Amino acid sequence: MKYCSTRNSNLEKSFDEIIIEGLAQDGGLYMPKEWPKIDLNKILNNKSITYPELAKIIIKNYVGNTIKDSELLEIAENTYEVFSHKKIAPLINIENNKFILELFHGPTYAFKDYPLQMLGNLFQYYLNQKDKSITVIGATSGDTGSAAIDACKDKENIKIFILHPKNKTSDIQRKQMTTIKSSNVYNIAINGTFDDCQNIIKKLFVSDDLRSKTTLSAINSINWARIISQSVYFFWAYIQAAQYNKKVNFIVPTGNFGNVYAAHISGTMGLPIEKLYVATNSNDIMHRTISNGDMSLKDVKSTISPSMDIQISSNFERQLFESMNYNSTELNQLMLSFTKNKKYDLQGKIHNNLKLYYKSKGVNDSITSETIKIFYDKYNYISDPHTATSLNILSELNNQDINIALACAHPSKFPDSIEKSIGILPEQPKNLKKILDSKEKYINLDNNLSEVKEYIVENLI
Ligand SMILES: *Cc1c(COP(=O)(O)O)cnc(C)c1O
Repeated sequence: MKYCSTRNSNLEKSFDEIIIEGLAQDGGLYMPKEWPKIDLNKILNNKSITYPELAKIIIKNYVGNTIKDSELLEIAENTYEVFSHKKIAPLINIENNKFILELFHGPTYAFKDYPLQMLGNLFQYYLNQKDKSITVIGATSGDTGSAAIDACKDKENIKIFILHPKNKTSDIQRKQMTTIKSSNVYNIAINGTFDDCQNIIKKLFVSDDLRSKTTLSAINSINWARIISQSVYFFWAYIQAAQYNKKVNFIVPTGNFGNVYAAHISGTMGLPIEKLYVATNSNDIMHRTISNGDMSLKDVKSTISPSMDIQISSNFERQLFESMNYNSTELNQLMLSFTKNKKYDLQGKIHNNLKLYYKSKGVNDSITSETIKIFYDKYNYISDPHTATSLNILSELNNQDINIALACAHPSKFPDSIEKSIGILPEQPKNLKKILDSKEKYINLDNNLSEVKEYIVENLI
């Protein structure tokens, strides 16, 4: 399997190269040059298949000969051992043909654990093989930082530096990062906003003196290994839905378009997906783009589903590349125009192609809140605000397919919103309680590039 970049379709890279680099040098995202087919019947006939076995069957198509099957299975087994539910990603039947796929049983209680735990272990495998080490740097406003730290902690060949805006993440989110005791983890609270943190990270990536000292890897750049690790649970959900001969719809709370794109490639690989529903909050560029081609930027609004507060959905570039028949010249022109004008009107061929696969809806905060209450009253199910955007769509569907809404975070990560909607606090998992009382470790720095760089360089030795 070889990979090109969305901005250069002539590139030919192997999996072990693209996983370490993350983002292509030309600013594009890596894409496989062909789509493997998964033998669905074979998977369905194996009644005792485990989640790690399924992960191996899917991921092995993408790694080429860079890793042996037996080693990949071992990595997958170690990866999902740290998840707390015996089904890893359980499918909950709430009514007839309506289901919720719970993706919050990993160490930090959000779905990002599923791809990032795998990514951390794959990093370790390739770094050992090449006898290399990397420095992971990233900025976070919440869930990504804690999932990345947990995935990289205690790994010998990795140091991880995560910037967060001081006093601007929730207490739980900050403590999930700062109470990790591993000596390779460095938390930096910046006196500034998330955008300030993000700006520092972008500058660090192009800083030659830092690059001369270490190999930098990104966590919020969109690593292909994350997408393929996520496609596993769409197959897993389908296996659990029992009515094998039916088509399936997935409803996906969407920010960066990574999760829903993983669903889409699962369809390309052979899962009988009818439609994918993109659920957004009031930051609805993806809803506008899919419903009428209006890809125009607006200011980011703060909502009760902060992990979806995004305007530029980086992974959407992968879908665009595909919808443009993998023509990187055309894609470059589109991205150039979009960056310059802050909008692009998708019409004709591209928009028609999108509509083949996707439907969408924007769900504002008050409907989200209402939905949390409706699902609690009707099904005794407590959902976090991100999940509730997809449950709102689930409740409106009326068809004969299997309908599966994704639950992307544990409700106890967002206690205030839950209490406002239903008047009670969600029960806290044991480990989360422990975190709240643990000692924190982080350093506080000014919003100043050279200060941050100096701190990183000092700690690289
Ligand atoms: C990251 C995240 C999302 C958005 O997922 P994308 O893959 O970026 O579209 C939604 N909900 C939660 C809880 C998240 O952490």
